[in-house]
Amino acid sequence: MAHYYTRPMSPGPADQVNAKELAARAAVVERHLDLAQFDRVREAGGLPGTRIDAQLRFGLFDGRTTVDVRVDGVAMVPCQRCLQPCATDVDEAAQVIVVRDEDEDVPGGFEPFVAQPEQLSLAALIEEQVLLALPLVPTHAAGDPQCRASSDAEVVPLVPSDADRPAAKAAVEEKQTPFANLRELLEKKNER
Ligand SMILES: [Zn+2]
Repeated sequence: MAHYYTRPMSPGPADQVNAKELAARAAVVERHLDLAQFDRVREAGGLPGTRIDAQLRFGLFDGRTTVDVRVDGVAMVPCQRCLQPCATDVDEAAQVIVVRDEDEDVPGGFEPFVAQPEQLSLAALIEEQVLLALPLVPTHAAGDPQCRASSDAEVVPLVPSDADRPAAKAAVEEKQTPFANLRELLEKKNER
């Protein structure tokens, strides 16, 4: 199957919102995004077929801008056993508080998101939650006939009942792959 990448779109004006204004009127915004809007998911190995529905509920906490973010959809990522595309369900909710810089204190129960609230990129906020939802070592489910892992000795055996055993899990996690740099990507982004 050939993969065609659409050109990454630079976030247009519609992506940038005044989150303070939305918070003041408790607005709810919905977005349906795919790989074209997710530069960092692409950088992390994300593949075409990635589609995310997001719902963002803006609010205020102590006069500060908050967003209840829910992301729901599927991320296509390379299986770390067979390197073929593998659909990973994304279903994540987080309470986010918008901070202007990462030194700002974050009240308990909130995840910080560094942005200027007057010019907040919805795609960037949604993408951060998608990145956090992705497994560090995505693989096809054990026994999935779509998984084309070879019978290499170092590959974890695909016996379903073995997959959840700690030993098998550890073996998978030891195989550090480019996908394991998600944290690094998140940190890099926060340094900007
Ligand atoms: Zn696989």
